[in-house]
Amino acid sequence: MEEKQKILIVEDSKLNQEILRNILQKDYKLDFAIDGTVALDKVKKAPPDIILLDLILPGMDGFGILTELKKCDSTRSIPVIIITGRSDPEEEAKGLNLGAVDYITKPFHAVVVNARVETQVKILKQMRIIEKFGFIDTLTNIPNRRHFDQTFIKEWNRAKREKKPISIVMIDVDHFKMYNDTHGHQQGDVALQTVAGTVTSSLKRTADIAARWGGEEFAVLLPNTTLEGAMHIAEEIRSNIEASDIPCGKGGKSHKITISMGVAQTLPDKDASIAELILQADRALYKAKDTGRNKVCAGGPEEE
Ligand code: GH3
Ligand code: MG
Ligand code: MG
Ligand code: MG
Repeated sequence: MEEKQKILIVEDSKLNQEILRNILQKDYKLDFAIDGTVALDKVKKAPPDIILLDLILPGMDGFGILTELKKCDSTRSIPVIIITGRSDPEEEAKGLNLGAVDYITKPFHAVVVNARVETQVKILKQMRIIEKFGFIDTLTNIPNRRHFDQTFIKEWNRAKREKKPISIVMIDVDHFKMYNDTHGHQQGDVALQTVAGTVTSSLKRTADIAARWGGEEFAVLLPNTTLEGAMHIAEEIRSNIEASDIPCGKGGKSHKITISMGVAQTLPDKDASIAELILQADRALYKAKDTGRNKVCAGGPEEE
């Protein structure tokens, strides 16, 4: 069964809390906060899926809480529905301008509250699906280039702060045009799925990520990993691919697929750049292709 969405109800009146509990507890997991301090603390510790926010509260009012929620990256996207006793168009406009998604006025009607919350849950679920598929390659089901680029920037900044090395591995399937020509494009797709799975399952740390770079090319990001460590992992990926018999459709024959890889590492600082690191790995990949394929080469700064 699908897990219930979690709603945080920020409301100081016990009576209104009870009314909302009766309306919503069947379909949602509820939590309550009686003022802004408690609410912001709960949101930070365990972000709810949706917030119902009363405007008049002891201490910070609902607008103040909303403003705080919108300031912070981790809480900005939580939908907030304002609940209030006053139906005042100016206040409503103020709440919506501050980023609330809807406005419910008291007294609460079960049907109205349910319908409005349900609408937000529906939107939330759709957003999550779009977000997920926007970052996943649809053929291989692993992260796509966009996901890789975003993670790269995050990990790059972390490595810079922590003064840790970061490595990347660029991967290109060998003679893949010939594979397609021999076995058909559809079988080529199946082979790419196997390659993606094998690359991904060769990684051990949770921070390591493998992505489809495009076509028959893949990239692996290895935070906090030296060149030596990255070469070791690349070699492991290479041999796992070589060992994986990729079936060729009809007749069940198998075909050895091999990959060539270029590895590069750097210590992110003011003189280093993501583009330069990728360039180094790319040059190393060309070297692997030029010197026989099915191998791993290391890249470094361009030699004069
Ligand atoms: P090399 O060893 O030099 O890399 O040779 P190659 O044949 O792999 O290189 P080339 O760049 O000439 O060809 C890449 C091939 O990858 C051609 C293209 O049709 C195939 N390819 C790219 N994306 C896909 C895909 O999504 N599915 C399939 N089946 N084939 C793809
Ligand atoms: Mg109140
Ligand atoms: Mg290629
Ligand atoms: Mg290729």
